[in-house]
Amino acid sequence: MFHLIRILSLLLFSSVVLTAEEDYALKRENMIRAIETDVVATSIYLDKKALDPRVMEAMNTVPRHALVPIRYRSKAYLNRPLPIGYGQTISQPYIVAIMTDLLNPQPEHKVLEVGTGSGYQAAIFSRLVQQVYTIEIIEELGMRATKDLAELGYDNIQVRISDGYYGWEQHAPFDGVIVTAAASHVPPPLIQQLKPGGRMIIPVGSSFLTQQLLLIVKDDEGNVTTRQILPVRFVPLTGSH
Ligand code: SAM
Repeated sequence: MFHLIRILSLLLFSSVVLTAEEDYALKRENMIRAIETDVVATSIYLDKKALDPRVMEAMNTVPRHALVPIRYRSKAYLNRPLPIGYGQTISQPYIVAIMTDLLNPQPEHKVLEVGTGSGYQAAIFSRLVQQVYTIEIIEELGMRATKDLAELGYDNIQVRISDGYYGWEQHAPFDGVIVTAAASHVPPPLIQQLKPGGRMIIPVGSSFLTQQLLLIVKDDEGNVTTRQILPVRFVPLTGSH
């Protein structure tokens, strides 16, 4: 009798777990549709009507719910930013998707992210490139992301706690650099640490006002060109620089 009750409760429990996972998968599908709609609506800025299928596949794979605070889990797949504590946010999925796509990530690439936050953007890149280096200035966020990413099994991401303005010289040069906080100017060390042929994506402008998302490309001779993509709103890049 005891065994029967145990088996029944195990069956009941596993079906509840499966339902929760199915529910998240369904919500993730809806998030993908919302991103696709936003991409079409902003295609004039992006110069395309759809993002790289590999990027969309990564967006449809990474468990965003596991990287947001528990109280926001039910909202994890809404196409909007969410608080992650310490006055910071996890970016809107559409923004994460277009920034990832603009970097044109390739399987052999090494990418540097400034602004780890929840670790979500780093997790997306980890599905698309060989190695991700990510820097967070708030120790508690950096430690939490390190733990969460390890628990989720992302083993090609290294998190460092420091001021990302100065990049990560030891692992430079990078094929791609992504800054997920708004800078008043493009940090020269990040340009320096970009490979010839590399790309950087960074929001630049005043804190808490609308900024411009910039795509910076370094050509094979080391010349840099900048393209304004679209207006965005990010928390500021802090630090003592
Ligand atoms: N990419 C993050 C994610 O997927 O959750 C969201 C980033 S949040 C919009 C911006 C992050 O940049 C915050 O966690 C903030 O603490 C961090 N940050 C701000 N200034 C920084 C700096 N100088 N160096 C490194 N991180 C910084």
